[in-house]
Amino acid sequence: MRLILLGPPGAGKGTQAKMLKEKFHIPQISTGDILRQAVKDNNELGVKAGSFMDVGQLVPDDVVIGLIKERIKQVDCEAGFILDGFPRTIVQAEKLSETLTEMGLVIDRVVDLEVNAEEVISRLSGRSTCSDCGGMFHEKSCPPKVSGICDSCGGILAQRQDDNAETILKRLDVYQESTAPLKQFYKKQGNLKAVTARGSVEEIFSRVLEMVK
Ligand code: AMP
Repeated sequence: MRLILLGPPGAGKGTQAKMLKEKFHIPQISTGDILRQAVKDNNELGVKAGSFMDVGQLVPDDVVIGLIKERIKQVDCEAGFILDGFPRTIVQAEKLSETLTEMGLVIDRVVDLEVNAEEVISRLSGRSTCSDCGGMFHEKSCPPKVSGICDSCGGILAQRQDDNAETILKRLDVYQESTAPLKQFYKKQGNLKAVTARGSVEEIFSRVLEMVK
């Protein structure tokens, strides 16, 4: 099964992708996670990407396309994968289609997680992530038992650098301009399904499962 999760920042793509990964035993491929790791490692990719990420802009298409092309050819992707945060532009979607066609593969389903801008701002401004296990928390909807400490592994919780008011608004603009047109792109291909991304994580997950059945 090859899936794409679409939706604005803060729609819950990462959370739903992790749940799908557990259920179907296929890898979650998050370009955001790969790029953040590269920034942390201060490697060539991280140096290239960091300045775009800090201000909420997209990393150039050729950089992320190269990453994904390599990643989906790895052996753990043979039974499928979940793309989380890729594609984000029409060019990325076209290149993905081309690469999959060359490999004799197709995308089976694109799930669009629908959430409004107000909700996105509230979700992102209160969110924190464990620097060790990637566990996600929110000061209102899912607070950790001990402030600043991950419930699962005891790691330190940190706010993402790009989860500040100014960058969140920029990321929303970028989403509207560059990523939202992908809905039309995949609608034309006939494999887009929309899901209301409101309610509990479990409620949203059961809606997502209905769509990928
Ligand atoms: P995310 O974790 O998916 O919200 O991504 C965080 C940041 O990484 C984005 O704001 C972009 O700067 C960059 N990024 C992640 N995925 C992509 C992509 N497919 N294309 C371009 N930039 C990306």
